[in-house]
Amino acid sequence: MEQHDVDVLVIGAGAGGLFTAARLAHRGYRTLVVERLDRVGGRASSEVIDGFTVNNGAIVIETGGITEQTFAEVGARFDVRPAKPPILYRLGGKDVDVTGGGWGYLLGKLTRQGAKLLDGLGAARTDDGLPDGGLSTTDWVRRYTGNEKVHGIFRNMCASIFAVSSDDLPAAVFLTYFTRRSAFKKFGFCPEGTIGVWRALADAVEGSGHGEVWLSSEVRSVDLGPDGAVAGATVVRDGREVSVTCRVAVSDAGPAATADLVGRDRLPADYAATVDTTPCAMLVVNFASREPLVEAPGLLSFATTRRMCYVANFTATCPEMAPEGWHLYNGTSVPEPATGDFDESREMDLLYADLREQIPGFDGARVLSTTVWRDAWPPQRAVAGHDLPHTTPIANLWNVGDAVKQFANGGTTACAETAALVVDEIAARFPVRETTA
Ligand SMILES: Cc1cc2nc3c(=O)[nH]c(=O)nc-3n(C[C@H](O)[C@H](O)[C@H](O)COP(=O)(O)OP(=O)(O)OC[C@H]3O[C@@H](n4cnc5c(N)ncnc54)[C@H](O)[C@@H]3O)c2cc1C
Repeated sequence: MEQHDVDVLVIGAGAGGLFTAARLAHRGYRTLVVERLDRVGGRASSEVIDGFTVNNGAIVIETGGITEQTFAEVGARFDVRPAKPPILYRLGGKDVDVTGGGWGYLLGKLTRQGAKLLDGLGAARTDDGLPDGGLSTTDWVRRYTGNEKVHGIFRNMCASIFAVSSDDLPAAVFLTYFTRRSAFKKFGFCPEGTIGVWRALADAVEGSGHGEVWLSSEVRSVDLGPDGAVAGATVVRDGREVSVTCRVAVSDAGPAATADLVGRDRLPADYAATVDTTPCAMLVVNFASREPLVEAPGLLSFATTRRMCYVANFTATCPEMAPEGWHLYNGTSVPEPATGDFDESREMDLLYADLREQIPGFDGARVLSTTVWRDAWPPQRAVAGHDLPHTTPIANLWNVGDAVKQFANGGTTACAETAALVVDEIAARFPVRETTA
């Protein structure tokens, strides 16, 4: 069998894998990323459909936080064009920009109880003011108001950021996110499609002189040595088996798939029993029109929809994503229930009903694709607040990605945050060897 030796093997070229690999290669670790698909980005990738750049998964990338910081640190091109303003809310038939006015302005537009809710948000800035883990975001809002529009806004915020409804999201997660974290306040679109940001990180891995990215290659097993630590992996590349040896392995495949690669029976039973996280779900309709259908230049969110949490307008900021004269959008919803089984065709009907009601002219638009994200290819592998640790019982094996997020974080930002932590832990325990740097 062909042999290949590296310092770190990274399984998967999704956001988590590439943030990790770029940092490791930048520090001088000989890093190999193995990706099963023929492209980078995993659930944050893009494809071209009839000349339109259609995102498959993540659409917006946060600017100004850990994501942009990682790109700067590893010297990768960060081509994310801010949407200004990033988000408008459709309230009482008007699309309102709350930038600057923040929560007070938004809530004041919806209810006379806004001030009380604002006090509740303020109290959550201290640990004592956070509700206990059992209280849902819906129940926390209900303490202050029964106003349906306020509940609608909170439901759609939870759906947009965490891919669950406010019934499923612990209030402590929502409040921590909005009072202590960067909270996606500023974001933009990549004009190449979201895949462009991961291509830039993959280029940084390969350009470091220490790293490689193998596409269309699959890790078939993670192999343990006699000491119980990871010794390497069996990879299939171009139809041939390659034996990869490594000092450290990092998996972006999700804890359950990682456990399968190692062999669940080789892991302590109490850990193996925790790896099957509960994924959530989302439905997406990508559509295009020759007429402009939405004024918001970034996302448009809603207070009164059946399911739809936002419509994204790509071409207002990135006209190159569509052929000349076309406008490109997507409408996204989270089903009920957001976790567990649901009726796909009914949920898609509800999303279409919202699109028809909220977006005049939608019926004349060209639908480019419809996707249901669920099960093994979900919008988040673990519901925020129910994440697994990024460490494993095996000392030189880590997990990254959106099943092992830090508390109260989500999406690609969370992947960047975990990657930074994991790389620091690797550096502390397995310092880069002078001979390989
Ligand atoms: C519809 C939708 C909208 C979203 N919107 C946003 C958004 O706007 N902004 C945002 O920040 N986040 C958003 N998200 C969430 C974001 O896309 C995910 O949190 C993130 O992309 C997850 O990345 P990951 O690295 O954890 O996993 P993945 O993207 O799943 O990457 C794992 C990779 O590992 C590969 N792999 C698995 N097993 C193997 C193996 N054995 N060998 C080789 N390769 C393997 C897979 O092919 C995959 O490419 C959205 C998600 C969806 C679905």
